[in-house]
Amino acid sequence: MTGVLAYRLPLRNRFRGITVREGVLLRGPAGWAEWSPFAEYAFPETGAWWRAAWEAANVGFPAPVRDRVPVNVTVPAVDAATAHRLVATSSCTTAKVKVAERGQAFAEDLDRVEAVRDALGPSGRVRVDVNGGWQVDEAVVKLTELSRFGLEYAEQPCATAEDLAELRVRLARGGVDVLIAADESIRRQGDPERVVALDAADIAVLKVQPLGGVRRCLELAERLGLPVVVSSALESSVGLAAGVALAAALPELPYACGLNTAAMFAADVTADPLVAVDGAIAVRPVTVDADGWQAGPEATRRWLARLDELPAELRRTGE
Ligand SMILES: [Mg+2]
Repeated sequence: MTGVLAYRLPLRNRFRGITVREGVLLRGPAGWAEWSPFAEYAFPETGAWWRAAWEAANVGFPAPVRDRVPVNVTVPAVDAATAHRLVATSSCTTAKVKVAERGQAFAEDLDRVEAVRDALGPSGRVRVDVNGGWQVDEAVVKLTELSRFGLEYAEQPCATAEDLAELRVRLARGGVDVLIAADESIRRQGDPERVVALDAADIAVLKVQPLGGVRRCLELAERLGLPVVVSSALESSVGLAAGVALAAALPELPYACGLNTAAMFAADVTADPLVAVDGAIAVRPVTVDADGWQAGPEATRRWLARLDELPAELRRTGE
């Protein structure tokens, strides 16, 4: 493997509390790879992200079974007018709307989801992502209210798998027809199978870097036995290519994936970013050929220091 290159890409709107995304790119015999654990993550969590990068650089991806991956437009916690414009100017017929942003009122969530439904029309699909922000009682009330806009599903409405399981029972008893997707419960609680054992979700959201690579995700999908939505970890187009490879290799793909996040960046590492055309991303390799994305010496030093925290054996072999 050659040396690593740190990148720094500005976002168009604040997302996940950040306005600039950073990570590193590396190149191996199989192609370009990305390692970009968020700043608050440490080893061993960052080790899973490294396994994904190692796979992309050294092994490459499994054979695809489709050549296009349908994707959703991602709507950050922006005002209703901005949300409407984001959706109307995307080519997507599915939208994922962030709700429960800290410091915002539920009325803002309602306005945003209503604007997105209006922009998509009745045949579009609207999903919300709560990032575990609600208690069970609150989630019952809020999802009941949001369900009037017709929700495809709610992603991680409560923080724990136990709470998701209880929420599913209470929504069903109340006659509220909203499917539940597990995201953080799959990738951050160390025991994805618990989601299935507790009957906590209808859908599994899988992200390649936090779960240790495309092949590990394929194995996990088979073990879980739930429909899968592949989402990004807000990567550059190089990292997104791994997510697209996973979505392309899954035997079934009943839902649009959350992989159109390159559209949220004001710049990318390639002149031909992996963004949706007619609501889908083409399955293709990404070449690093743009200018202006390389981070300065301070950020580069910081990323090299993070890499140094990984065990030498893991860095070398991916295991
Ligand atoms: Mg999520």
